Amino acid sequence: MKALIILEAINNRFSLTDQRLIDFAAVICSSIDVLAVNCNANRIMSLKLVDRVFIFACKRPINVLMDNQRLSHIVSRLMLKYDIVLVDNNSNLHHILCHAGATINRCVVSGIHDVIDYNMYIMLIHGGKTLKYIRFKHPKPWLMSVRLIYPLFFDNTNETERWLRVVPKIQIIDFNTDHCIKLLTYSRKDLGPYGLDLPKLTEADIVIAGGKSFGTSENFKRWLIPLALKLGAAIGATRGAVESRCAPPELQIGCNSQIISPKLYIAFGISGSDHHLVGIRYAKTIIAVNTDKDAQIFDTANYAITSDMYKVITSMMGWLRNNTIRNTNFLVSKFKKNTA
Ligand SMILES: Cc1cc2nc3c(=O)[nH]c(=O)nc-3n(C[C@H](O)[C@H](O)[C@H](O)COP(=O)(O)OP(=O)(O)OC[C@H]3O[C@@H](n4cnc5c(N)ncnc54)[C@H](O)[C@@H]3O)c2cc1C
Repeated sequence: MKALIILEAINNRFSLTDQRLIDFAAVICSSIDVLAVNCNANRIMSLKLVDRVFIFACKRPINVLMDNQRLSHIVSRLMLKYDIVLVDNNSNLHHILCHAGATINRCVVSGIHDVIDYNMYIMLIHGGKTLKYIRFKHPKPWLMSVRLIYPLFFDNTNETERWLRVVPKIQIIDFNTDHCIKLLTYSRKDLGPYGLDLPKLTEADIVIAGGKSFGTSENFKRWLIPLALKLGAAIGATRGAVESRCAPPELQIGCNSQIISPKLYIAFGISGSDHHLVGIRYAKTIIAVNTDKDAQIFDTANYAITSDMYKVITSMMGWLRNNTIRNTNFLVSKFKKNTA
Protein backbone atom coordinates (compact mmCIF):
# COMPACT_ATOMS: atom_id res chain seq x y z
CA MET A 1 0.00 0.00 0.00
CA LYS A 2 1.15 3.51 -0.81
CA ALA A 3 0.27 6.46 1.37
CA LEU A 4 0.36 10.16 0.74
CA ILE A 5 0.44 12.29 3.86
CA ILE A 6 -0.16 16.01 3.68
CA LEU A 7 1.63 17.97 6.36
CA GLU A 8 2.02 21.62 7.09
CA ALA A 9 5.19 22.91 8.68
CA ILE A 10 4.56 25.84 11.00
CA ASN A 11 7.56 28.18 11.12
CA ASN A 12 9.35 25.60 9.01
CA ARG A 13 8.95 22.96 11.73
CA PHE A 14 6.95 19.78 11.84
CA SER A 15 5.21 18.85 15.07
CA LEU A 16 5.24 15.56 16.95
CA THR A 17 1.74 14.90 15.60
CA ASP A 18 3.10 15.07 12.06
CA GLN A 19 5.62 12.31 12.77
CA ARG A 20 2.91 10.30 14.52
CA LEU A 21 0.76 10.56 11.43
CA ILE A 22 3.62 9.06 9.45
CA ASP A 23 4.04 6.32 12.08
CA PHE A 24 0.32 5.62 11.80
CA ALA A 25 0.60 5.15 8.03
CA ALA A 26 3.74 3.02 8.44
CA VAL A 27 1.66 0.34 10.18
CA ILE A 28 -0.13 -0.48 6.96
CA CYS A 29 1.82 1.12 4.13
CA SER A 30 5.12 0.06 2.70
CA SER A 31 5.70 3.35 0.97
CA ILE A 32 5.00 6.80 2.34
CA ASP A 33 5.24 10.06 0.45
CA VAL A 34 4.65 13.47 1.96
CA LEU A 35 3.23 16.62 0.42
CA ALA A 36 4.80 19.19 2.71
CA VAL A 37 3.44 22.70 2.89
CA ASN A 38 5.88 25.42 3.89
CA CYS A 39 9.10 23.66 4.69
CA ASN A 40 12.54 23.78 3.21
CA ALA A 41 14.52 20.80 2.02
CA ASN A 42 16.64 20.63 5.20
CA ARG A 43 13.62 20.44 7.43
CA ILE A 44 12.34 17.40 5.56
CA MET A 45 15.27 15.43 6.95
CA SER A 46 13.60 15.58 10.35
CA LEU A 47 10.78 13.36 9.05
CA LYS A 48 11.40 9.65 9.42
CA LEU A 49 9.98 6.77 7.37
CA VAL A 50 9.34 8.98 4.38
CA ASP A 51 10.27 7.93 0.84
CA ARG A 52 9.53 11.01 -1.17
CA VAL A 53 8.55 14.58 -0.43
CA PHE A 54 6.73 17.11 -2.55
CA ILE A 55 6.98 20.68 -1.39
CA PHE A 56 4.29 23.33 -1.68
CA ALA A 57 5.76 26.70 -0.81
CA CYS A 58 3.32 29.24 0.53
CA LYS A 59 5.48 31.30 2.92
CA ARG A 60 2.69 31.68 5.47
CA PRO A 61 0.29 29.31 7.21
CA ILE A 62 -2.19 27.97 4.69
CA ASN A 63 -5.61 29.48 4.69
CA VAL A 64 -8.61 27.51 3.53
CA LEU A 65 -10.18 30.45 1.73
CA MET A 66 -7.05 31.52 -0.07
CA ASP A 67 -5.29 28.28 -0.81
CA ASN A 68 -8.12 25.81 -1.17
CA GLN A 69 -8.26 25.92 -4.92
CA ARG A 70 -4.57 25.63 -5.69
CA LEU A 71 -3.68 23.14 -3.02
CA SER A 72 -6.73 20.92 -3.49
CA HIS A 73 -6.03 20.87 -7.23
CA ILE A 74 -2.52 19.59 -6.55
CA VAL A 75 -3.80 17.07 -4.01
CA SER A 76 -6.50 15.76 -6.33
CA ARG A 77 -3.91 15.17 -9.06
CA LEU A 78 -1.43 13.51 -6.71
CA MET A 79 -3.89 11.37 -4.73
CA LEU A 80 -4.82 9.13 -7.64
CA LYS A 81 -1.40 7.48 -7.43
CA TYR A 82 -1.94 6.45 -3.81
CA ASP A 83 -4.01 3.94 -1.86
CA ILE A 84 -4.49 6.15 1.16
CA VAL A 85 -4.28 9.89 1.68
CA LEU A 86 -3.97 11.14 5.23
CA VAL A 87 -4.13 14.49 6.96
CA ASP A 88 -4.27 15.66 10.55
CA ASN A 89 -7.91 16.01 11.56
CA ASN A 90 -7.24 19.19 13.47
CA SER A 91 -5.56 21.14 10.72
CA ASN A 92 -6.84 23.19 7.81
CA LEU A 93 -5.61 20.41 5.58
CA HIS A 94 -8.76 18.50 6.48
CA HIS A 95 -10.80 21.01 4.46
CA ILE A 96 -8.33 20.92 1.61
CA LEU A 97 -8.61 17.12 1.48
CA CYS A 98 -12.43 17.31 1.51
CA HIS A 99 -12.32 19.71 -1.41
CA ALA A 100 -9.84 17.57 -3.33
CA GLY A 101 -11.90 14.45 -2.57
CA ALA A 102 -15.03 16.04 -3.99
CA THR A 103 -13.28 16.48 -7.32
CA ILE A 104 -12.69 12.74 -7.60
CA ASN A 105 -15.99 11.79 -6.00
CA ARG A 106 -14.65 10.53 -2.68
CA CYS A 107 -15.51 11.67 0.77
CA VAL A 108 -13.11 11.98 3.66
CA VAL A 109 -13.57 9.75 6.68
CA SER A 110 -12.68 11.99 9.55
CA GLY A 111 -11.74 11.34 13.14
CA ILE A 112 -9.86 8.09 12.45
CA HIS A 113 -8.00 7.22 15.58
CA ASP A 114 -6.19 3.96 15.01
CA VAL A 115 -5.61 1.17 12.55
CA ILE A 116 -6.57 -2.48 12.99
CA ASP A 117 -5.96 -3.90 9.57
CA TYR A 118 -5.14 -2.48 6.17
CA ASN A 119 -8.82 -1.65 5.53
CA MET A 120 -10.14 -1.54 9.08
CA TYR A 121 -9.85 1.59 11.20
CA ILE A 122 -11.00 2.81 14.57
CA MET A 123 -12.92 5.97 15.27
CA LEU A 124 -13.67 7.31 18.72
CA ILE A 125 -17.14 8.74 19.05
CA HIS A 126 -19.27 10.12 21.87
CA GLY A 127 -16.41 12.08 23.32
CA GLY A 128 -14.05 9.14 23.18
CA LYS A 129 -16.35 6.76 25.08
CA THR A 130 -17.28 4.55 22.14
CA LEU A 131 -15.14 2.83 19.53
CA LYS A 132 -16.37 2.65 15.99
CA TYR A 133 -14.77 0.36 13.44
CA ILE A 134 -14.64 1.51 9.88
CA ARG A 135 -14.02 -0.86 7.00
CA PHE A 136 -13.29 0.66 3.64
CA LYS A 137 -14.92 -1.05 0.74
CA HIS A 138 -14.99 1.60 -1.95
CA PRO A 139 -12.20 1.93 -4.50
CA LYS A 140 -8.98 3.60 -3.52
CA PRO A 141 -7.71 6.16 -2.75
CA TRP A 142 -9.15 6.15 0.75
CA LEU A 143 -9.16 9.59 2.24
CA MET A 144 -8.81 9.93 5.98
CA SER A 145 -8.23 12.64 8.46
CA VAL A 146 -6.63 11.21 11.56
CA ARG A 147 -7.07 12.44 15.11
CA LEU A 148 -3.98 11.61 17.09
CA ILE A 149 -4.68 13.44 20.31
CA TYR A 150 -4.96 10.17 22.28
CA PRO A 151 -2.08 7.68 22.50
CA LEU A 152 -2.11 5.04 19.77
CA PHE A 153 -3.58 1.67 20.71
CA PHE A 154 -0.80 -0.19 19.00
CA ASP A 155 2.73 0.39 20.02
CA ASN A 156 4.39 0.31 16.65
CA THR A 157 7.77 1.68 17.77
CA ASN A 158 9.62 -1.55 16.93
CA GLU A 159 7.87 -1.75 13.61
CA THR A 160 9.08 1.68 12.66
CA GLU A 161 12.52 1.52 14.26
CA ARG A 162 14.13 -0.11 11.24
CA TRP A 163 13.02 2.72 9.03
CA LEU A 164 14.61 5.35 11.17
CA ARG A 165 17.15 7.69 9.66
CA VAL A 166 16.32 6.69 6.12
CA VAL A 167 17.03 9.80 4.10
CA PRO A 168 13.88 10.59 2.13
CA LYS A 169 14.01 11.24 -1.58
CA ILE A 170 13.01 14.80 -2.26
CA GLN A 171 11.03 16.01 -5.20
CA ILE A 172 10.43 19.71 -5.15
CA ILE A 173 7.45 21.17 -6.95
CA ASP A 174 8.64 24.65 -7.61
CA PHE A 175 5.67 26.94 -7.21
CA ASN A 176 5.99 30.53 -7.84
CA THR A 177 5.67 31.99 -4.37
CA ASP A 178 4.42 35.20 -5.91
CA HIS A 179 1.16 33.38 -6.60
CA CYS A 180 0.63 32.77 -2.96
CA ILE A 181 1.54 36.27 -1.92
CA LYS A 182 -0.91 37.58 -4.50
CA LEU A 183 -3.52 35.21 -3.12
CA LEU A 184 -3.49 37.25 0.06
CA THR A 185 -5.07 40.05 -1.86
CA TYR A 186 -7.35 37.69 -3.77
CA SER A 187 -5.67 38.59 -7.05
CA ARG A 188 -3.89 35.49 -8.17
CA LYS A 189 -1.16 36.12 -10.65
CA ASP A 190 -2.43 35.14 -14.04
CA LEU A 191 0.30 33.94 -16.33
CA GLY A 192 -1.82 34.87 -19.33
CA PRO A 193 -2.35 33.00 -22.57
CA TYR A 194 1.36 32.51 -23.26
CA GLY A 195 2.12 31.20 -19.77
CA LEU A 196 4.69 33.95 -19.29
CA ASP A 197 5.31 36.19 -16.34
CA LEU A 198 4.27 39.34 -18.20
CA PRO A 199 2.16 42.14 -16.70
CA LYS A 200 -1.58 42.21 -17.28
CA LEU A 201 -2.77 44.35 -20.17
CA THR A 202 -4.85 46.58 -17.96
CA GLU A 203 -2.08 47.03 -15.37
CA ALA A 204 1.04 47.32 -17.52
CA ASP A 205 3.15 50.46 -17.85
CA ILE A 206 4.18 49.43 -21.32
CA VAL A 207 1.96 47.63 -23.83
CA ILE A 208 3.12 46.47 -27.23
CA ALA A 209 0.44 45.35 -29.64
CA GLY A 210 0.24 43.75 -33.05
CA GLY A 211 -2.29 43.69 -35.84
CA LYS A 212 -3.39 41.04 -38.27
CA SER A 213 -0.48 41.86 -40.58
CA PHE A 214 1.65 39.43 -38.51
CA GLY A 215 -0.19 36.76 -40.43
CA THR A 216 0.13 33.78 -38.12
CA SER A 217 0.16 33.09 -34.44
CA GLU A 218 3.74 31.74 -34.66
CA ASN A 219 4.93 34.93 -36.31
CA PHE A 220 3.04 37.08 -33.80
CA LYS A 221 4.66 35.26 -30.88
CA ARG A 222 8.07 35.07 -32.50
CA TRP A 223 8.31 38.85 -32.91
CA LEU A 224 6.36 40.20 -29.97
CA ILE A 225 7.18 37.86 -27.07
CA PRO A 226 10.97 38.51 -26.97
CA LEU A 227 10.35 42.25 -27.15
CA ALA A 228 7.71 42.11 -24.42
CA LEU A 229 10.06 40.13 -22.19
CA LYS A 230 12.85 42.65 -22.75
CA LEU A 231 10.58 45.61 -22.04
CA GLY A 232 8.58 43.98 -19.27
CA ALA A 233 5.57 44.87 -21.37
CA ALA A 234 2.15 43.33 -21.81
CA ILE A 235 1.15 42.10 -25.26
CA GLY A 236 -2.05 43.29 -26.88
CA ALA A 237 -3.73 42.77 -30.23
CA THR A 238 -6.41 44.12 -32.52
CA ARG A 239 -9.59 42.30 -33.29
CA GLY A 240 -8.16 41.81 -36.76
CA ALA A 241 -5.27 39.88 -35.19
CA VAL A 242 -7.66 37.86 -33.04
CA GLU A 243 -9.98 37.03 -35.91
CA SER A 244 -7.12 35.93 -38.12
CA ARG A 245 -5.93 33.74 -35.20
CA CYS A 246 -2.65 35.57 -34.78
CA ALA A 247 -3.50 36.31 -31.15
CA PRO A 248 -5.75 34.82 -28.47
CA PRO A 249 -8.94 36.78 -27.62
CA GLU A 250 -7.63 37.67 -24.14
CA LEU A 251 -5.20 40.06 -25.81
CA GLN A 252 -7.76 42.09 -27.72
CA ILE A 253 -7.81 45.82 -27.04
CA GLY A 254 -10.70 48.05 -28.04
CA CYS A 255 -14.27 49.05 -27.48
CA ASN A 256 -15.48 45.48 -27.40
CA SER A 257 -12.71 44.22 -25.17
CA GLN A 258 -10.10 45.78 -22.91
CA ILE A 259 -9.47 49.46 -22.33
CA ILE A 260 -5.86 50.02 -21.38
CA SER A 261 -4.01 52.94 -19.79
CA PRO A 262 -0.28 52.31 -20.08
CA LYS A 263 2.41 54.98 -19.94
CA LEU A 264 3.61 53.78 -23.30
CA TYR A 265 1.73 51.98 -26.06
CA ILE A 266 3.56 50.74 -29.14
CA ALA A 267 1.40 49.60 -32.07
CA PHE A 268 3.00 47.40 -34.71
CA GLY A 269 1.12 47.03 -37.99
CA ILE A 270 -2.15 48.38 -36.63
CA SER A 271 -4.33 50.54 -38.89
CA GLY A 272 -6.00 52.36 -36.01
CA SER A 273 -9.72 51.80 -36.49
CA ASP A 274 -12.03 53.73 -34.17
CA HIS A 275 -12.94 50.48 -32.45
CA HIS A 276 -9.30 49.93 -31.52
CA LEU A 277 -8.54 53.55 -30.65
CA VAL A 278 -11.26 53.56 -28.00
CA GLY A 279 -9.25 50.95 -26.14
CA ILE A 280 -6.03 52.97 -26.10
CA ARG A 281 -7.42 56.44 -25.48
CA TYR A 282 -5.98 56.54 -21.94
CA ALA A 283 -2.46 55.59 -23.06
CA LYS A 284 -0.06 58.41 -22.16
CA THR A 285 2.30 58.04 -25.09
CA ILE A 286 1.48 56.21 -28.30
CA ILE A 287 4.10 55.13 -30.78
CA ALA A 288 2.76 53.68 -34.03
CA VAL A 289 4.73 51.71 -36.56
CA ASN A 290 3.09 51.26 -39.93
CA THR A 291 4.26 51.07 -43.53
CA ASP A 292 1.26 53.07 -44.68
CA LYS A 293 1.94 56.78 -44.09
CA ASP A 294 -1.80 57.45 -44.25
CA ALA A 295 -2.72 54.91 -41.60
CA GLN A 296 -5.40 56.27 -39.30
CA ILE A 297 -3.39 55.44 -36.19
CA PHE A 298 -0.87 58.15 -37.05
CA ASP A 299 -3.55 60.77 -36.36
CA THR A 300 -3.67 59.69 -32.74
CA ALA A 301 -0.07 58.60 -32.18
CA ASN A 302 2.45 60.85 -30.43
CA TYR A 303 5.22 59.35 -32.53
CA ALA A 304 4.67 57.96 -36.02
CA ILE A 305 7.20 55.66 -37.58
CA THR A 306 6.56 54.92 -41.23
CA SER A 307 8.58 51.80 -41.53
CA ASP A 308 8.43 48.04 -41.68
CA MET A 309 7.52 46.71 -38.23
CA TYR A 310 9.97 43.82 -38.40
CA LYS A 311 12.85 46.23 -39.02
CA VAL A 312 11.76 48.37 -36.09
CA ILE A 313 11.45 45.38 -33.74
CA THR A 314 14.86 44.11 -34.82
CA SER A 315 16.51 47.46 -34.19
CA MET A 316 14.73 47.79 -30.82
CA MET A 317 15.93 44.37 -29.77
CA GLY A 318 19.47 45.29 -30.81
CA TRP A 319 19.33 48.45 -28.77
CA LEU A 320 17.78 46.74 -25.76
CA ARG A 321 20.51 44.12 -25.74
CA ASN A 322 23.04 46.76 -24.72
CA ASN A 323 20.85 49.16 -22.76
CA THR A 324 18.67 49.06 -19.71
CA ILE A 325 15.40 50.94 -19.62
CA ARG A 326 15.36 53.52 -16.85
CA ASN A 327 11.81 54.72 -17.44
CA THR A 328 9.33 55.02 -20.28
CA ASN A 329 10.38 58.61 -21.17
CA PHE A 330 13.96 57.47 -21.53
CA LEU A 331 12.78 54.59 -23.69
CA VAL A 332 10.69 56.88 -25.91
CA SER A 333 13.60 59.26 -26.51
CA LYS A 334 16.01 56.41 -27.29
CA PHE A 335 13.40 54.69 -29.39
CA LYS A 336 12.94 57.79 -31.56
CA LYS A 337 16.66 58.23 -32.01
CA ASN A 338 17.34 54.61 -32.88
CA THR A 339 14.48 54.07 -35.27
CA ALA A 340 14.65 57.39 -37.08
C1 LIG B 1 -18.68 45.97 -34.13
C2 LIG B 1 -17.20 45.95 -34.25
C3 LIG B 1 -16.44 45.96 -33.08
C4 LIG B 1 -15.05 45.94 -33.17
N1 LIG B 1 -14.33 45.96 -32.02
C5 LIG B 1 -12.98 45.99 -32.11
C6 LIG B 1 -12.19 46.03 -30.93
O1 LIG B 1 -12.67 46.00 -29.81
N2 LIG B 1 -10.85 46.08 -31.08
C7 LIG B 1 -10.22 46.09 -32.32
O2 LIG B 1 -8.98 46.14 -32.38
N3 LIG B 1 -10.99 46.03 -33.42
C8 LIG B 1 -12.32 45.96 -33.35
N4 LIG B 1 -13.05 45.88 -34.49
C9 LIG B 1 -12.34 45.71 -35.78
C10 LIG B 1 -11.79 47.04 -36.29
O3 LIG B 1 -12.80 47.76 -36.90
C11 LIG B 1 -10.64 46.77 -37.29
O4 LIG B 1 -11.12 45.99 -38.34
C12 LIG B 1 -9.43 46.10 -36.68
O5 LIG B 1 -9.04 46.77 -35.52
C13 LIG B 1 -8.26 46.13 -37.67
O6 LIG B 1 -7.23 45.34 -37.22
P1 LIG B 1 -5.74 45.54 -37.78
O7 LIG B 1 -5.29 46.92 -37.51
O8 LIG B 1 -4.97 44.43 -37.17
O9 LIG B 1 -5.85 45.21 -39.32
P2 LIG B 1 -5.87 46.18 -40.58
O10 LIG B 1 -6.91 47.20 -40.45
O11 LIG B 1 -5.95 45.30 -41.77
O12 LIG B 1 -4.46 46.91 -40.54
C14 LIG B 1 -3.25 46.29 -40.80
C15 LIG B 1 -2.21 47.40 -40.84
O13 LIG B 1 -0.92 46.81 -40.83
C16 LIG B 1 -0.08 47.60 -41.68
N5 LIG B 1 1.06 46.74 -42.06
C17 LIG B 1 1.04 45.65 -42.86
N6 LIG B 1 2.27 45.10 -42.93
C18 LIG B 1 3.10 45.88 -42.18
C19 LIG B 1 4.48 45.85 -41.87
N7 LIG B 1 5.28 44.87 -42.30
N8 LIG B 1 4.97 46.79 -41.07
C20 LIG B 1 4.19 47.78 -40.58
N9 LIG B 1 2.87 47.88 -40.86
C21 LIG B 1 2.32 46.93 -41.63
C22 LIG B 1 -0.98 48.04 -42.81
O14 LIG B 1 -0.47 49.20 -43.44
C23 LIG B 1 -2.29 48.28 -42.07
O15 LIG B 1 -2.43 49.62 -41.68
C24 LIG B 1 -14.44 45.91 -34.44
C25 LIG B 1 -15.20 45.88 -35.58
C26 LIG B 1 -16.57 45.91 -35.49
C27 LIG B 1 -17.37 45.89 -36.76
